[in-house]
Amino acid sequence: MLTIRDIIQEMEVWAPPGVAWERDNVGLQIGDANEEVTGVLAALELTPEVIKEALQKKCNLILTHHPLIFKPLQNLTPKTFSGKLALDVARNGLNLYAAHTNLDFTKDGVNFVLGQKLNLQNIEFLYQVGGTMKKIVVFVPPDYVEQVTNAMTKAGAGIIGGYDACSFQTRGTGTFRPAPGAQPFSGEIGSLQHEDEIRIEMITPKWKSQTVVNAMIDAHPYDEFAYDVYPNEAIDPMYGAGVIGTLSEAMPVENFIHMVKNALNIPAVRWTRGASDSVSRVAVCGGSGSDLLPAALQKKADAFVTADIKYHAFHEARGIINLIDAGHYETEVWILDALIKRLKKKFSNTSTKFYTTNIITNPIHYS
Ligand SMILES: [Zn+2]
Repeated sequence: MLTIRDIIQEMEVWAPPGVAWERDNVGLQIGDANEEVTGVLAALELTPEVIKEALQKKCNLILTHHPLIFKPLQNLTPKTFSGKLALDVARNGLNLYAAHTNLDFTKDGVNFVLGQKLNLQNIEFLYQVGGTMKKIVVFVPPDYVEQVTNAMTKAGAGIIGGYDACSFQTRGTGTFRPAPGAQPFSGEIGSLQHEDEIRIEMITPKWKSQTVVNAMIDAHPYDEFAYDVYPNEAIDPMYGAGVIGTLSEAMPVENFIHMVKNALNIPAVRWTRGASDSVSRVAVCGGSGSDLLPAALQKKADAFVTADIKYHAFHEARGIINLIDAGHYETEVWILDALIKRLKKKFSNTSTKFYTTNIITNPIHYS
């Protein structure tokens, strides 16, 4: 039986809630993770039409990018737009899960998919910050190194980019004197002991550090032992904001704009001309990415494609960088197919159906 929790777990290996923007509200918004999944429908946001489609397709789990419940709801009545939708979801026995900025900030998330859509090569994060990891150090008798590192690995420590089970181990001598009443693993009460020990170092995303520490404590043979948890300012290669890549061939900015419109299926973009008439290096950020303009400039992008750009931001960019507003929906919607493809592959041995919505939830028209 496939449960809502199984789908959530798979989503969160890819886009952990811990990487979401701190004021975001992601995760299971309505429903019960213990329920069996009848089908999964992905949409950028929840609308009445999406609920109808989920019911028609017999999907009891709706995955959205934009959270329905963002600001605290004062009540659950049909008086507000989100209150009515939330009530409809609950009354129809549906479950609603949101992966928002965690899906923006993860590798192969919203921005990587957008970069691929625009045929960028060598795509990498545009902006990354340190401080999302912790380093855990523990001292273990040699015979127990494998047991402790395995437990920490299982709990989520030791992942560096495409590598797992990463640790560093050095041999040394630990000293201790068991006090009366202690139950030492080795040695005698009151006498100073010198023990051969291995210092194990592993990194962990900071939102997993407590789980890793708990697993480490369970696996350690000593009743009391030393361990350290350090803040780590290094950058985790798996997470960042926006992406940057290179076109296989440089092209005049007019041609690039034409390509963006075709690739994203939009009738028009809003844009301002930058310093270069030729575009090769392109920064992108799906949705409201104006804050990344300095990062795009710093990484020497010829063009920056994002959405929700304000008038004054265009002024700031004019003559400096080709700044292109390609629409919020239009720069994000492509993640849905990627997400469904990923889930289908993971759960290919089940009969559960996975769908991308047929509804265009974009409220904006061009005319
Ligand atoms: Zn968005």
